[in-house]
Amino acid sequence: MNISIIGGGIAGLTTAVALTQLGYTPHVYEAANELKPLGAGIILSPNAMAVLRHLGLEQEALAQGQPIKALQLAQSNNERIMQSTAMQLGNLSSVGIHRGALQNLLLSALPAEQLHLSHRLKQVTQDQAGVTATFGNREQLTSDILLGADGLRSAVRQTIFPENKTRDSGQICWRGVAQIPAGQTEAIEYWGIGTRFGVVPISEREIYWYATDVTEPEGVFEAKYHKIYLQNRFSSYPKLVRNLLQATPVEKLLRHPLIDIEPLPEWYKNRIALVGDAAHAMTPNLGQGAAQSMVSAWTIAQCFAQFPDNRAQAFNHFQQLRLKPVQQVIQQCWQIGQLTNWTTPWLCQTRNNLISLVPTWVGNIGRRRTFALPKIAPPPPQDRRSLF
Ligand SMILES: Cc1cc2nc3c(=O)[nH]c(=O)nc-3n(C[C@H](O)[C@H](O)[C@H](O)COP(=O)(O)OP(=O)(O)OC[C@H]3O[C@@H](n4cnc5c(N)ncnc54)[C@H](O)[C@@H]3O)c2cc1C
Repeated sequence: MNISIIGGGIAGLTTAVALTQLGYTPHVYEAANELKPLGAGIILSPNAMAVLRHLGLEQEALAQGQPIKALQLAQSNNERIMQSTAMQLGNLSSVGIHRGALQNLLLSALPAEQLHLSHRLKQVTQDQAGVTATFGNREQLTSDILLGADGLRSAVRQTIFPENKTRDSGQICWRGVAQIPAGQTEAIEYWGIGTRFGVVPISEREIYWYATDVTEPEGVFEAKYHKIYLQNRFSSYPKLVRNLLQATPVEKLLRHPLIDIEPLPEWYKNRIALVGDAAHAMTPNLGQGAAQSMVSAWTIAQCFAQFPDNRAQAFNHFQQLRLKPVQQVIQQCWQIGQLTNWTTPWLCQTRNNLISLVPTWVGNIGRRRTFALPKIAPPPPQDRRSLF
């Protein structure tokens, strides 16, 4: 079976590695000319670590990142709102890691000849004979199956579900990585009034941070003005926050609006399926986008192995296993994001007081549900048409 994967991000690479380990030879087509270590940090929650364990990459991820023992939610004046201890699940840890390190880790497990850079998908068509991808470099190829792992603004999704829309959460997110004295093993998120600041250790001496706000400086993005803006906006936050902003080089400051996609009712059409953000982009309010993408990537590979000669059944089983749980996560992320959009001080205080009443164990139950991996069991026989 001939499988093309569009996009060499976290979802595309994880799918490719998982399929390769199952004996397939998928080919990844990535628009970029080079896979540079872009981005800031990322939290690999226990579900992401479980996938890395299945792929034999867990120990390397632990070696390259920083285990996170707990996540604390606090007010911008440092008063605790809630502490979650469920950053571990069984013997799986959460790990803060540089996004580039994760990408390199996945790349190291993929034979180099299966990755094709400078291949921006322009068009995709499918018929009885196969699925044909046309790239910006004018190359054309036909395969049995095409997986769209081309992210939030997926061209593949646009082709098979053109009616789907992105949703703007109303928040801007800045990210950076700063070198600071060691010792931080907890992730912290501070909530203010219309603002938020997250702190995630990614190595002994590095912290990845993110800040969100419902406003931003006018005009085109200029990092040096945005840094000054953030230093003013977060001047009343704890010293750790002010130090991190101060220690972040201007050229490392990233800015993105927080956008997701309207949850899709289905993820495949005939020979084409979506994986990762292309299928289920979510706002990063539970730090789950990459983790859920990796779980979907691993699941779809297992479904291929389970139904090797029936594409429809493999896709259908993948969707049955993943669609509903992922939609719940998308919904929770959206709701949390909207709660942090509030700008009325007394409402924000009431929100924080109410959240602080939620017992830690209740929050932990929710997290465990989010971290759960699907149980891959054969479904009842149905739709046995072989499509190859
Ligand atoms: C601010 C922020 C913080 C986040 N923090 C976390 C976190 O802590 N934990 C977590 O689990 N997740 C987090 N996420 C989410 C996570 O980054 C994404 O969910 C994840 O990167 C999705 O991976 P992907 O491979 O599906 O998409 P992407 O990473 O977007 O990769 C898509 C790839 O496809 C390529 N591509 C695009 N179009 C084409 C085309 N036409 N042809 C060929 N190639 C194409 C792109 O160049 C790219 O390489 C965060 C997201 C944001 C915005």
